[in-house]
Amino acid sequence: MQSGTSEHDSQKLKPCRYCKTPIEKGLKRCPVCGTLTPHSDAKTTTIWIAVILLVVYLYTLIRGG
Ligand SMILES: [Zn+2]
Repeated sequence: MQSGTSEHDSQKLKPCRYCKTPIEKGLKRCPVCGTLTPHSDAKTTTIWIAVILLVVYLYTLIRGG
């Protein structure tokens, strides 16, 4: 007998950023296409890179002055 929990379970699922297949939240890797961190927000990484570059730039300015 099939249980009707699929709708409830779908709330825990989130589409993979690469293949769009709904997969469980918190997975480090998509079981379908193998993409790492399938739910990670690329914007966050971009912001961190920008911050690091800015710090390095300021540090270079201070050292050079
Ligand atoms: Zn995927």
